[in-house]
Amino acid sequence: RELPGDPVTHNVPRAVHNACYTLVDPTPVRGPRLLAWADPVGEMLGISRPVSPVDPAVEVLGGNRVLPGMQPYAARYGGHQFGHWAGQLGDGRAITLGEVLSPDGVRRELQLKGAGKTPYSRTADGRAVLRSSVREFLCSEAMHYLGVPTTRALSLVATGETVVRDMFYDGNPQAETGAIVSRVAPSFVRFGNFEILAAQNEPETLKRLADYVIGEHFPELGGQAPFTPGIYAMWFEEICRRTGVLIAHWMRVGFVHGVMNTDNMSILGLTIDYGPYGWLEGFDLQWTPNTTDAQGRRYCFGNQPRIAQWNLTRLAGALTPLIEDNAVLEHGLTVFGETFNNTWRKMLADKLGLASLEHKDDDTLVSDLFELLQQVETDMTLFFRCLMVVPVDGSPESPAGNADHIEDSALAEFFRPAFYDEQQAFAHAQSSKLTGWLRRYIARVRLEGERGSIRYQQMSRANPKYVLRNYLAQQAIEALEQGNAEVIERLMEVLKYPYDEQPEHDELAGRRPEWARNKAGCSALSCSS
Ligand code: AMP
Ligand code: MG
Ligand code: MG
Repeated sequence: RELPGDPVTHNVPRAVHNACYTLVDPTPVRGPRLLAWADPVGEMLGISRPVSPVDPAVEVLGGNRVLPGMQPYAARYGGHQFGHWAGQLGDGRAITLGEVLSPDGVRRELQLKGAGKTPYSRTADGRAVLRSSVREFLCSEAMHYLGVPTTRALSLVATGETVVRDMFYDGNPQAETGAIVSRVAPSFVRFGNFEILAAQNEPETLKRLADYVIGEHFPELGGQAPFTPGIYAMWFEEICRRTGVLIAHWMRVGFVHGVMNTDNMSILGLTIDYGPYGWLEGFDLQWTPNTTDAQGRRYCFGNQPRIAQWNLTRLAGALTPLIEDNAVLEHGLTVFGETFNNTWRKMLADKLGLASLEHKDDDTLVSDLFELLQQVETDMTLFFRCLMVVPVDGSPESPAGNADHIEDSALAEFFRPAFYDEQQAFAHAQSSKLTGWLRRYIARVRLEGERGSIRYQQMSRANPKYVLRNYLAQQAIEALEQGNAEVIERLMEVLKYPYDEQPEHDELAGRRPEWARNKAGCSALSCSS
């Protein structure tokens, strides 16, 4: 191992010094049982699906057995939580079993989440509930198929034990089903791994971690340490660039992470740590699924770019021992802003089916749309799918006809599926507001000349039909708790092709039903997991 490990080996919650990780084995569980398996991830890793729910392989994925060659560890990191330095956090319930050299030649960490206490568990139990494990398992795979950079998930294992959680913080803790997700990424290193080393004044270890991460995970920067200041600068810039692309994707698909603390920010620019995340249903820049953040809305949909930049600024602060020139760090932050803006603009153009957003009135067209979507509860995902089929130019995919000959009321009709309150929204749509915008939009599309079916194809690749709406995840959880895996398996299949019509699964693409509006797990979520 190239990185300094914890000189103390006993597994008791404590402050760790002069180390990047602590060796610690998972704590065995009573009855590990396989609940779900992601075949594509198994294939990627060269690991075959266990033949039965209690296959010996499941013993490993439940933390009961460590195979020869595995050297399980928990990583040391800190972080800024909700804007404040929180000190040492670390893998309090995640344990990396080791690295798998996959058939594709890439080395990937295989990590169990919920595998028992580590020195970083603080006062918590090191475990995870089925509910949050299903959500992480499903969402990491869904994000991958949406084309969003993310960690992956291989398996979901029930532990045969219960875990006590106070889901509503109402002082009534409940026994819930325990579970362990195995997740996979080239690295789970976070901004916080560097922050803790800077905060505890361990510059030597900080440098070794940076050199390791650059050498292993940023080969394009030129190989092995020692690195020049210029290489560290390019590395930071690349982290900023990747983070910019990542956040643009989140905005494109309407994903709200919910807890963008610096310990939940991947150094590789991946979506990491799925907790109280959610998808926008009604378009709302202020929306957050995280009830813990309901007051401040620090991590709401519209704030994500700003928060990512704030987090990168904390990372920059931690990297000052390596990059002394402030202008270099400032430049990286500028690169973040530029990358986010350019990528988001390009994605918006794709969402709208325009070749670019370079026309002089385009900014107003976009901001007017966001305002309209916010005025009455309009499903973001469905709105853009509806927009795809507006007969702008009579292309083959559009219903016959030309928008010029369609009355306002019929034009508004295209958007009926996207409105939560059809009556109210319909009045709104017809009151020339939405239709007025649509007429401008249609005129704008036509400025690009004849593009035939290109517009439709461009839009259908940028606008998913199927996203993991919270209520869908909740249905999978409730079924699984009753021993029924059909719901989760169907979701896993459908979410593999989120941009395809899959008409036989239309019911999974509709608006969130009204019964789910205020149901726990279906709209608002606490951090309890
Ligand atoms: P999160 O807000 O989920 O990113 O977690 C923040 C910190 O709390 C991380 O250090 C986690 O490892 C730790 N943590 C969360 N839940 C548990 C748990 N049940 N047991 C131990 N540590 C936990
Ligand atoms: Mg975390
Ligand atoms: Mg978490």
